[in-house]
Amino acid sequence: MGNRGMEDLIPLINKLQDAFSSIGQSVNLDLPQIAVVGGQSAGKSSVLENFVGRDFLPRGSGIVTRRPLILQLVNNIAEHAEFLHCKGKKFVDFEEVRAEIEAETDRITGSNKGISPIPINLRVYSPNVLNLTLIDLPGMTKVAVGDQPADIEHQIRDMLMQFITKESCLILAVTPANMDLANSDALKIAKEVDPQGLRTIGVITKLDLMDEGTDAKDILENKLLPLRRGYIGVVNRSQKDIDGKKDIRAALAAERKFFLSHPAYRHMADRMGTPHLQKTLNQQLTNHIRDTLPGLRSKLQSQLLSLEKEVEEYKNFRPDDPTRKTKALLQMVQQFGVDFEKCIEGSGDQVDTNELSGGARINRLFHERFPFELVKIVFDEKELRREISHAIKNVHGVRTGLFTPDLAFEAIVKKQIVKLKTPCLKCIDLVIQELINTVRQCTSKLNSYPRLREETERIVTTHVREREGKTKDQVLLLIDIELSYINTNHEDFIGFANAQQRNIAANKKRAVPNQLAGLGEAQEEKVESPDLQKCHQL
Ligand code: GDP
Ligand code: MG
Repeated sequence: MGNRGMEDLIPLINKLQDAFSSIGQSVNLDLPQIAVVGGQSAGKSSVLENFVGRDFLPRGSGIVTRRPLILQLVNNIAEHAEFLHCKGKKFVDFEEVRAEIEAETDRITGSNKGISPIPINLRVYSPNVLNLTLIDLPGMTKVAVGDQPADIEHQIRDMLMQFITKESCLILAVTPANMDLANSDALKIAKEVDPQGLRTIGVITKLDLMDEGTDAKDILENKLLPLRRGYIGVVNRSQKDIDGKKDIRAALAAERKFFLSHPAYRHMADRMGTPHLQKTLNQQLTNHIRDTLPGLRSKLQSQLLSLEKEVEEYKNFRPDDPTRKTKALLQMVQQFGVDFEKCIEGSGDQVDTNELSGGARINRLFHERFPFELVKIVFDEKELRREISHAIKNVHGVRTGLFTPDLAFEAIVKKQIVKLKTPCLKCIDLVIQELINTVRQCTSKLNSYPRLREETERIVTTHVREREGKTKDQVLLLIDIELSYINTNHEDFIGFANAQQRNIAANKKRAVPNQLAGLGEAQEEKVESPDLQKCHQL
């Protein structure tokens, strides 16, 4: 192969490509690759199929390739194909590969022939291929057909540009020989991004279709529109060959025969044809990777460094020193503790003016939400009166009592105290939720270490949950204590008589404006039930 020791470079980049594809396109790394560009029906798909020796690409009129296809060719004894989007499934039938490409294309673009820049990753293992990675891109077109968007031409152009503007991308510019080279879409777009022709490789297809008496000798000898990497001519299967199911092996033999027998190409026959193209691309890609590797390496390293810097902030992290690692880890955990405390207890530094911190939110729960919940406990006065009446009567039993019994009072009051349980428990739930949110917020600093973050969160949350149970027990106990003994001697205990006094005083205050409106409240007081009046007398 002439690239001894370099054979592993392409598989290495393949791995990177897969890794980046699986995490999305966000990574700002330009991997060395070859993008195939050309007008519609220039013969791009035919060239790729010839490499593999199999028919596996969707065919048809219009824009068939509507998503970039990252085609990784891997030299391997057993032949099969694999998609990144259904990893582990081995395709041995290449008809199925084609169907899967079509299905996967439609899955993203819908079936209205739209295009999408999200690539499909296909890996083909075959004894016929040399290690090579190519990206099949939509053919350039001028007119939108059917319900394609009107700006399809620009959309495709933009997509091609995304790939080929990158210095790390080799451009395989496919141009059919039966059209004027000056009009070649592929060469035009390549020239825009690579004006000196340093990373463009020319491929001339359909040499067999040239008008009698004309040939592409000047182009192929790199004289007409010179490119640093030159041109390679190929002859693919014609539509008739494809319809007649001419197999690719026979086509390759015919191609070889064509070059050997053609007077204009005979002298350069060993530099023409699909096998030579494949070999050249393999070599050029390998060299290209070798050339771009130092840059790639330093880019990767700088990304790694910036990641490590975060750790370094927690102190001189050295990846090779386990004690430092432990120290950094401890420091991060400690920092989490400090952050959490600051969130809850509040702190003078870095006061957030946009939203309330965890502690302030908890304060709000205690002083706004909880009282609100208490006020919300509605009691129906009528119902209460009825209950009081029942209680009094039940305490007296068969006798009609003279005084209102304490027992009735207790029974009613206890019932009211029990009602405190629900809002108290709710308050605890809300505070717990707030604590857990704060834990999350504080662990977000550990994002670069997902496992550490997960563990920290888990441990702290578990602890909070544990305390939740204890707190609830404690609060319920407190309420039970209040229930078990009602201290009527307590200074806060005002008694019914005092309560009534206060009530009347409050009502009078309110009654003044009401009387002005012609509404006497004194009258209303008169219609109290006899039971309640008894209560007041206490
Ligand atoms: P793409 O749109 O660039 O992918 O082009 P295709 O590979 O699908 O080819 C378009 C048409 O041109 C097909 O019918 C091919 O059979 C035909 N074709 C491609 N290359 C050649 C060639 O070298 N010679 C002949 N005779 N036909 C070709
Ligand atoms: Mg195609």
